[in-house]
Amino acid sequence: MFARIEIDRSRCKGCGICTTACPRMLLELEQVSDEFVSSFAVLPSQEKCVGCTQCAVMCPDLAIDVYSRQKNEFVGVTGRAFRLYSNKVVSLLERLS
Ligand code: SF4
Ligand code: SF4
Repeated sequence: MFARIEIDRSRCKGCGICTTACPRMLLELEQVSDEFVSSFAVLPSQEKCVGCTQCAVMCPDLAIDVYSRQKNEFVGVTGRAFRLYSNKVVSLLERLS
């Protein structure tokens, strides 16, 4: 396995953008009976993920983290970094307003 992703369900709103962004068409929407959303993104075939990060880059809610395998460790390559950056920008804008 070259890479894996994690989808944060507390952020996913089931918009489906990631399902069209994945060049390997690996992501799917799973229907759920949730109070706020009707579906969540899922990756049924984790082993087929190549870690291209397209899903994470396109997700408007920063719900996806991509990890790439380096030696025997999975290292975060996107998602969290965007989130930390966006949180910093938001707090800066709040201070300026
Ligand atoms: S793009 Fe993001 S919010 Fe939309 S379904 Fe995919 S993970 Fe969820
Ligand atoms: S990292 Fe690339 S291959 Fe893996 S699920 Fe996301 S878009 Fe698809």
